[in-house]
Amino acid sequence: MSDIGFIGVGNMGAPMVKNLVAAGHSVTAFDLSAVALDQAVAAGATPAADIGAVAAGRDVVITMLPAGEHVRSVYLDAGGVLEKASAGALLADCSTVDVESARAVHAKAAAAGLEMVDAPVSGGVGGADAGTLTFMVGGSEAAFGRAEAVLANMGKTVIHAGGAGSGQAAKVCNNMVLGISMIAVSEAFALADKLGLDRQKLFDISSTASGQCWSLTNYCPVPGPVPASPANRDYQAGFTAAMMLKDLRLSQQAAADSGATTELGAEATALYERFCAAGNDSVDFSGIFKMVGGDDA
Ligand code: NAD
Repeated sequence: MSDIGFIGVGNMGAPMVKNLVAAGHSVTAFDLSAVALDQAVAAGATPAADIGAVAAGRDVVITMLPAGEHVRSVYLDAGGVLEKASAGALLADCSTVDVESARAVHAKAAAAGLEMVDAPVSGGVGGADAGTLTFMVGGSEAAFGRAEAVLANMGKTVIHAGGAGSGQAAKVCNNMVLGISMIAVSEAFALADKLGLDRQKLFDISSTASGQCWSLTNYCPVPGPVPASPANRDYQAGFTAAMMLKDLRLSQQAAADSGATTELGAEATALYERFCAAGNDSVDFSGIFKMVGGDDA
């Protein structure tokens, strides 16, 4: 069992800590928010006073922070993880951040002689709580080999995506598909309404035809066909529109940095910007159905 330091114990981090403790690891946690830190302590972690105290002397240091700026600061600042972590420690950043920040921190970790993985997740708060997250991991074979067993305590799937930053690259590509496909499915239901085609009939046909996709069959944006989808509880999140917008913006930043053309990704980003600007930040991302010609149009 490992001695683990965990930084960033908010909505995702706290339940991840719970599962590490349940697996028998010793976890020391730090968060700028006293409320978040209390949750981690309730989940079985020992509180630390600062980043130095959480990072020094650990076998593994895990971070679950809001965005790239926080990750750069926590790892790279004076008194940060790279300065304080012990020789031989494994570093795992599970936050969703821009590919460039991930690669910058990887490079500095390597220069400091520390092994690191970027390991963003899919599965949301429910998956974090149930220990069923999917981890998309970027880093060397050796670093992945060390990280896999620890991450498996918090998830059901741990996939090596490639070298440094590849986990973040996989995450933004996947979530760009998700954002675009949710809008596509929403537009199809809006069109069906106008054509007088019954929603359940469209679902029954498309879910067994070439329109089949996760946004339709697992997370249908209209009430009825998929009883567990947020559409049946007035689009209570789930995965918020603000989170989807964050990930779409990361995809567009990555596209601009790498010279990729992602016209539908850009359009999806613009639509989610409009949806969020209308006061829907905390609404489930499938609520975009109400804007693209659906119930509120
Ligand atoms: P959150 O805001 O609930 O938690 C982040 C925590 O980091 C907060 O408690 C905050 O106080 C802490 N923090 C920020 N800066 C810090 C610093 N310098 N030192 C110590 N602590 C600091 O966010 P979350 O929902 O837990 O998401 C975390 C990450 O997981 C994000 O990158 C998000 O995109 C990703 N993610 C979230 C979900 C989801 O459904 N919530 C799903 C997949 C991925």
